[in-house]
Amino acid sequence: MTEYVSVELRRLIDERSTGRCEYCHIHNDHVVLPHEPDHVIAIKHGGLTEADNLALACFLCNRFKGSDLASIDPQSNLIVRLFHPRTDNWLDHFRADDDGRIVPLTDIGRVTAQLLRFNLSESVLTRCELIARHLYP
Ligand SMILES: [Zn+2]
Repeated sequence: MTEYVSVELRRLIDERSTGRCEYCHIHNDHVVLPHEPDHVIAIKHGGLTEADNLALACFLCNRFKGSDLASIDPQSNLIVRLFHPRTDNWLDHFRADDDGRIVPLTDIGRVTAQLLRFNLSESVLTRCELIARHLYP
């Protein structure tokens, strides 16, 4: 198995996501470090380098997610899987508030927002500035 993402696959990932991180929805044009292909199910867990297992992720989301598949829900203390960009609908699990915060709506949303640290103060500030310029979400 390889982590190498071909040029064709990378193009598909970029087009499918319209340049937005598929976790936090920030556009590639509004960050310093370029977005990257993320193996939703990491190779070490048996994930493949194929379109159905790849998502465009910003640097922060990709680093915080790493190879994780799940986390502990702070409300129930149960292990809950992370948001899966290929099989889940973002709006079912999250809401982007006008104050720049991403509000989780489900247990999957909670563990994902917590693990990927969606609401770090710097990220919220960036989203506020983008919202004011009608560039987010
Ligand atoms: Zn992101």
